[in-house]
Amino acid sequence: MTESGQSENAAAPIEATALDPHVRARAIMEGTERDLSYPPSPEALVVAVYDNHTHLEIADGENPMHYREHLDRASAVGVRGVVQVGTDVLTSRWSAAVAAREPRVLAAVAIHPNEAPALAESGELDAALAVIDDLAAQPRVVAIGETGLDYYRTAPGSGRVAQLASFEAHIEIAKKHGLALQIHDREAHDDIVATLLRVGAPEKVVFHCFSGDVTLASICAENGWYASFAGTVTFKNAHNLRDALDVLPRSLLLVETDAPFLTPQPFRGRPNGPYLLPYTVRAIADHLGTDVSMLAAQLSSNTELVYGSWDANPVTAPGDPWAAHELPGDPDNLGGALPEHYPGER
Ligand SMILES: [Zn+2]
Repeated sequence: MTESGQSENAAAPIEATALDPHVRARAIMEGTERDLSYPPSPEALVVAVYDNHTHLEIADGENPMHYREHLDRASAVGVRGVVQVGTDVLTSRWSAAVAAREPRVLAAVAIHPNEAPALAESGELDAALAVIDDLAAQPRVVAIGETGLDYYRTAPGSGRVAQLASFEAHIEIAKKHGLALQIHDREAHDDIVATLLRVGAPEKVVFHCFSGDVTLASICAENGWYASFAGTVTFKNAHNLRDALDVLPRSLLLVETDAPFLTPQPFRGRPNGPYLLPYTVRAIADHLGTDVSMLAAQLSSNTELVYGSWDANPVTAPGDPWAAHELPGDPDNLGGALPEHYPGER
């Protein structure tokens, strides 16, 4: 873990460490031999794009990058901004705090569908949702996500009931604040669509890491829902995703990394970062038989329509996250104890 730059602040008060660059680490992938080095930077895009879904707080690789290093490497190859996505109370607070002080970052906040069952079980879900509702009022929090349903990790029963309740609550929060909804949909296409239609979708809906086929793509096209493509679209066997690209209007396409996961080819399995997004953009342009710069211009325009301009609400917090300044909002709760299931944090 990168410790440089923090040691001099060792004796500073809690605020100095409140924006630790890595509030959690990527879980060890058992039984797999991963190359833990970051891939080389791609050739820069001429027309810049945005990564609309990333997790810069997760440390990965043998030399985890600080979020500012991630952003600098991204800037150098034409990735001009990111939506930093929270998955629980701690990482949502972190995301909002970084967005408040970094012009290249906007934030999405939510309780991930894989976190909801345990929180419901312990009676903490409502309080967690109240924190998300609070954070949603901050000017640089532009989306509620990632939320949705995950039938891959959660078996039928009370866990799925809790996921659905949490998903519906997030939809309400998105509508209340007029924010985009970023959906996590894992093997749950039908119930996601049914829920959106039943309770009424927010104006801007994004299927993060789109994993559907032509059928779901057609439903997205009908409803004006956005499909965000990750590195998975470059995977050799991902024919369903490339078929989906063919039926989606270009005006509904977004791109993302979901870093540190889902690294595009030819680097699948290695640590991911927003700076690797050009590989995915070029693969999509190649499949669609279109010019990379024209596609990039469309993607950027789409992204700004969903989330607004990265400059619409200028940063207000002190610029140096390592200085002992007070954080906006709720500084006291940013630090403190970390959940046990994030191995290797800090
Ligand atoms: Zn994600």
